[in-house]
Amino acid sequence: MEIQSFNPPVRTLMGPGPSDVHPRVLAAMSRPTIGHLDPAFVAMMDELKVLLQEVFRTGNPLTLPVSGPGSVGMETCFVNLVEPGDKVIVCRNGVFGGRMKENVERCGGQAVMVEDAWGEPVDPEKLEAALKANPDARLVAFVQAETSTGVESDARALAELAHRHDCLVIVDAVTALGGSPVLVDEWGLDAVYAGTQKCLSCTPGLAPVTFGERAVEAIRLRRTPVQSWFMDLNLVMGYWGGGKRAYHHTAPVNALYALHEALLMVREEGVANAWARHRHNHEALRAGLEAMGIGMLVRPEARLPQLNAVLVPDGVDEAAVRARLLERFNLELGAGLGELAGKVWRIGLMGYASRPENVYTCLTALESVLGEMGAHITRGAAVAAADAAYREA
Ligand SMILES: *Cc1c(COP(=O)(O)O)cnc(C)c1O
Repeated sequence: MEIQSFNPPVRTLMGPGPSDVHPRVLAAMSRPTIGHLDPAFVAMMDELKVLLQEVFRTGNPLTLPVSGPGSVGMETCFVNLVEPGDKVIVCRNGVFGGRMKENVERCGGQAVMVEDAWGEPVDPEKLEAALKANPDARLVAFVQAETSTGVESDARALAELAHRHDCLVIVDAVTALGGSPVLVDEWGLDAVYAGTQKCLSCTPGLAPVTFGERAVEAIRLRRTPVQSWFMDLNLVMGYWGGGKRAYHHTAPVNALYALHEALLMVREEGVANAWARHRHNHEALRAGLEAMGIGMLVRPEARLPQLNAVLVPDGVDEAAVRARLLERFNLELGAGLGELAGKVWRIGLMGYASRPENVYTCLTALESVLGEMGAHITRGAAVAAADAAYREA
């Protein structure tokens, strides 16, 4: 077998992640590797922490990028905060809430489920009922931005309820961070994990996390050691905690250059401007799709601007459409997961992918492919509808 250097095709990534990575971020990643205890690198780490605190809107000293994808961020929160026998209320309205349940159980905890339909946000009344029925619960876990359904839940309201019943919250902000407001201090979120490859326009493989005072105290008061050596924050802090840095594991040096650059770009834009940009591009995409006769899964108040769950028109082979979009237009859209498989496309407008040229590429390419396949759509109206939405913004 002859093997040559791998040169990936240049795609437009409008699925559920990874999303388009900004060229500045890719360039930063190719800079020379230096030692992870090099003074120059340590200075960069200090800046990285400040940049993460800014995007999370927090002053939490325990804010760092965990070396691993969003799933490792998730696991870091659960293994540090859940002890055997702990009761944890887990809100599930899509794929990722299901993974939280799995995490609780693998930590020896007991998961009490609050279930909502796929496509609906977490219902605060159901959470409140579960909190009342389980006064011994210590933690509440929920997903702010459910990437599997395109739904945003009200993180502020859910956290407030949890706190009123003396529970800490673990929040999945993997798809939320950088795309919609995540106000860690203002909302009092105790433990939050995110990812780099969704709305931060960075490569996959790092998980920004932040822990508030109450969470740090809970970790300090654990009765049992954290069963994961790699994710035990007491040990990780020896490297990330400032002061004299000790070897824990070799930091992914070049990946951290990339995150530094990506977060610097968010700072230059202003995170509130980034939220507004995600919203404007979402409105234009939605207007264009609706003009074509294509509907959205989620009701307007609960829609995520960065992840659009779009109903596949009747009689259309959704996988064939995605294959043709990829082949002909280098455009990647996401498929539906679980009970939404075959019923929706997931169109991401995340980070650097959230820009007008992508909105127009998606609308025109989708119209072309659907038209060719004989789908019942309205042709020739989408671009004008997107134009009008941008004018209103
Ligand atoms: C993508 C995603 C994850 C997992 O992140 P990975 O980087 O794929 O491990 C977790 N939660 C949500 C809501 C996500 O969208």
